[in-house]
Amino acid sequence: MSEELAVLAVVVGGIWALLLWISIVVWVYRDIRERTRDSSLQILSAFVVLVFFPGFNLPGLALYLMLRPRESLEEAYARSLEEEALLRELGDEGTCPSCRKLIEKEFQFCPSCQTQVKDQCAKCERLLSFSWVACPTCGTARPGAAPPAAPSPTQTATGIEAQGDQEPLQTTAATQEVEAARSQH
Ligand SMILES: [Zn+2]
Ligand SMILES: [Zn+2]
Repeated sequence: MSEELAVLAVVVGGIWALLLWISIVVWVYRDIRERTRDSSLQILSAFVVLVFFPGFNLPGLALYLMLRPRESLEEAYARSLEEEALLRELGDEGTCPSCRKLIEKEFQFCPSCQTQVKDQCAKCERLLSFSWVACPTCGTARPGAAPPAAPSPTQTATGIEAQGDQEPLQTTAATQEVEAARSQH
């Protein structure tokens, strides 16, 4: 009786180990197919869990879990979409600043709302970003652009001259006040 029980235990244990072995191989094969399209890598992964300790292949499973590609294909795809969306947000070209619809690099006007999204070089007709001061192809200054740093010295020079004219007046006024204060004492 106890012998029969022992045999039964061995049989059940054996079947359980066999099922575990098969299910691990099946699970690994399904898992690797979600992670790579490389068929040689798929076969290698299945082989690793198939061969290691037949009947009880947990070391093979552990090895597979350590070495498998971190991302599934779906995750990688979602991440690439996210990155693309982020790049579109960051670049000044990509979306219309008015209606936020997607526009292509060579568009001068938004096809959805007619907003002008690019300027055009007066000389070579290249499309220019509104943030540019000059055309990157021919160097012509963009007419609508804010003046570059060059004219600013003359402006500050005139400012200094104006201050120079005002300063004597201010000092005389100040000295007059001081003199008035002194005379009061
Ligand atoms: Zn638009
Ligand atoms: Zn140009």
